[in-house]
Amino acid sequence: MLPDDTGLSALPERPCKPLLRATNLAEALQTMATCQFEPALNSLGSQIAIIDQQGTITYVNQDWIEFGVHNGTAADYPWVGSDYLEASKGFSAVESEQEASLVDGIRKVLSGLAPTFDCEYSCHSPDERRWFVMRVVPLHTHPGLYVVSHHNITRRKEQLLAGQAALEESALHSQAVLDNMVDGVVTIDMRGRIQSFNQAASRMFQYTPAEVLERNVSMLMPEPHRGHHDGYLLHFQHTGEARVIGKPREVEGVRKNGEVFPMSLSVSQIMRSGQPTFIGIVRDITQRRLHDEEIRRLAFYDPLTRLPNRRLLMDRLHQAMASSCRSLHHGAVMFLDLDHFKQLNDGWGHDVGDELLQQVAARLNACVREADTVARLGGDEFVVLLEALSPLSSEAATQAEAIANKILYTLGQSYKLRGQMYDSTPSIGIVLFAQDRDSMEDLLKKADVAMYQAKSAGRNTARFYDPAMQAVAMARTELERDLRHGLSTQQFVLHYQIQVDSKGVPTGAEALVRWQHPLRGRVSPGDFIPLAEETGLILPLGQWVLETACTQLQAWAQNPTTDHWSMAVNVSAWQFAQVDFVAHVTAALAKTGARPHLLKLELTESMLVNDVDDVIAKMNAIKAYGVNFSLDDFGTGYSSLSHLKSLPLDQLKIDQSFVRDVLTDPSDAVIARTIVALGHSLGLKVIAEGVETAEQRHFLAGIGCDAFQGYYFGRPEPADMLAQRT
Ligand code: C2E
Ligand code: MG
Ligand code: MG
Repeated sequence: MLPDDTGLSALPERPCKPLLRATNLAEALQTMATCQFEPALNSLGSQIAIIDQQGTITYVNQDWIEFGVHNGTAADYPWVGSDYLEASKGFSAVESEQEASLVDGIRKVLSGLAPTFDCEYSCHSPDERRWFVMRVVPLHTHPGLYVVSHHNITRRKEQLLAGQAALEESALHSQAVLDNMVDGVVTIDMRGRIQSFNQAASRMFQYTPAEVLERNVSMLMPEPHRGHHDGYLLHFQHTGEARVIGKPREVEGVRKNGEVFPMSLSVSQIMRSGQPTFIGIVRDITQRRLHDEEIRRLAFYDPLTRLPNRRLLMDRLHQAMASSCRSLHHGAVMFLDLDHFKQLNDGWGHDVGDELLQQVAARLNACVREADTVARLGGDEFVVLLEALSPLSSEAATQAEAIANKILYTLGQSYKLRGQMYDSTPSIGIVLFAQDRDSMEDLLKKADVAMYQAKSAGRNTARFYDPAMQAVAMARTELERDLRHGLSTQQFVLHYQIQVDSKGVPTGAEALVRWQHPLRGRVSPGDFIPLAEETGLILPLGQWVLETACTQLQAWAQNPTTDHWSMAVNVSAWQFAQVDFVAHVTAALAKTGARPHLLKLELTESMLVNDVDDVIAKMNAIKAYGVNFSLDDFGTGYSSLSHLKSLPLDQLKIDQSFVRDVLTDPSDAVIARTIVALGHSLGLKVIAEGVETAEQRHFLAGIGCDAFQGYYFGRPEPADMLAQRT
């Protein structure tokens, strides 16, 4: 389409009407020449000519005459009557290819093969670059005549070219900037498709732009972000609310090889061709993270052992104290120092000393829970911070003491230093804290003081700062040590307490363990059974009791007066919970030859609280050998009736606390009565323990008790004394 500024389309139809009346060519030309619109044609700034079908020029306007189309033809050149096609061939500066298509185009119109011909062409003279548009259109009012116009568009063209060049330059500049950026720049459209990908992004993600363009940007994200990303964009499309815009964030990217790496991402949004476009600036922060980590490590960790240093310890201690205030749980600070470390350092060299410190650090870490802190203050000084110990101070002391003992044991094992064995021991000072008003420094000082107490007590030991706690912990430690020693030196004996039927006839006895301590005297089972359970010593002790009782049972079997007697043996919950408990019972029976149906294991209700299915399975397995079960201390625990029904029990034992006041306290009487009724309804025998008087026995017999045990019938006593009496 010819641009408007050729002016031809502006030619009004009406003023040219005189042309319509022309009957021949000569007249038409005359009309044209004198046409009142000639000034208008001359003012258009276009060179306009009229040619006939042969290309002969029949009219030219003033511009044509002046500018002679392009080639600087002399002003008096006789245009009218000359051959336009010939003349156009001579447009000297028109490139030959263009010239050919020009002539061809004009011919097509003249021969009726094309309705019009438009073309833009350049025509550069040595000192000027010029552009033109030309148009050939038939003059419909005069068939056989054609209007040819040439219009100089050099100015417009130059502006256009200058604009294009500026644009290209600016695009090149932008690309150069983008490509030289350290940061990756990725733009995506509203649907998440990648629109641009600079070189830094290429390096970072290891994809070429061609591999990612038009693909979903989520390919650059690891799961689970990958799966969520479309959702974010969808959310944006629906609400226009982009949560990530303008907020620099640290996220993860994924490289072509699958490697996930940390990166910072800031997203901005622009409108491009009326569509929102997101520009993401990404930076690989792997190195920065490593540096941060390194700085953190240097600031808070001891370089030799990689343990927290004093600074981090103080921070943790501060938090631990605050959280202990909230939770009411105790915490403990242990100050630990290696005995005779200086000698090692001086004698073997610092390298060897360092090696020992590293090994000690590793062992210390293995002694505590994840949440606890092991720190090195410097030299051979370590601090262990324990958290979330019991709210009860005595229990907390026990817990801290247990860990201190573990540390003493673990650090006391030989070390291998430069191929040589080396023995080292620590001294440990312990201080507990709860809602203390002590400052952190006070606590460390107290732990330090306690550590020196440990040193002066002969080293390789732990001491509490608090004298009272120290006493408690010491008492327990000693008791435990004595218990171990007592086990290995046979300080334990069994006493037997007779059990009788409703007529008072002995039917057997209960075995009750006694600890005959050389210094402490007789220690009550109530004082050492709980500790034995806590320390696991109940396992060897319980097995010893079981075997000794079975041996006694087998001895009674040899005597006609006692050969029908049964033996009741107490079993603790921890003992019963062992996977190999069944095997232990059968082993004791096999070893002693005792008859299983005369062995009666006393369980307590407390062991029915947890895994009841496991209890039932074990009881059934033992029951299969013929062994009987009695439920001890019945009425004091929480066993539910539904459990009771499913247990293979033979007997309920009314706890002595009900028996004691059965005559004076009506509610105890009711309880005793209920237990008997319950036991009988479940098909069980009921025995009362702790019967001390004839009246108690009379009452219990009256409510249907099947058997009795208590001082009234006999105290627990050695087997030979029991034999003499009966
Ligand atoms: P238990 O099984 O309920 O044993 C009954 C306790 O009551 C025994 O105390 C016994 O001496 C005491 N006793 C018996 N008749 C009377 C009485 O008429 N009046 C009073 N006031 N007390 C009476 P002991 O021997 O001190 O045992 C205490 C607990 O220690 C036992 O309670 C039992 O739970 C545990 N125990 C004792 N020996 C063993 C054992 O070999 N293994 C296990 N696991 N626990 C044992
Ligand atoms: Mg008992
Ligand atoms: Mg009992």
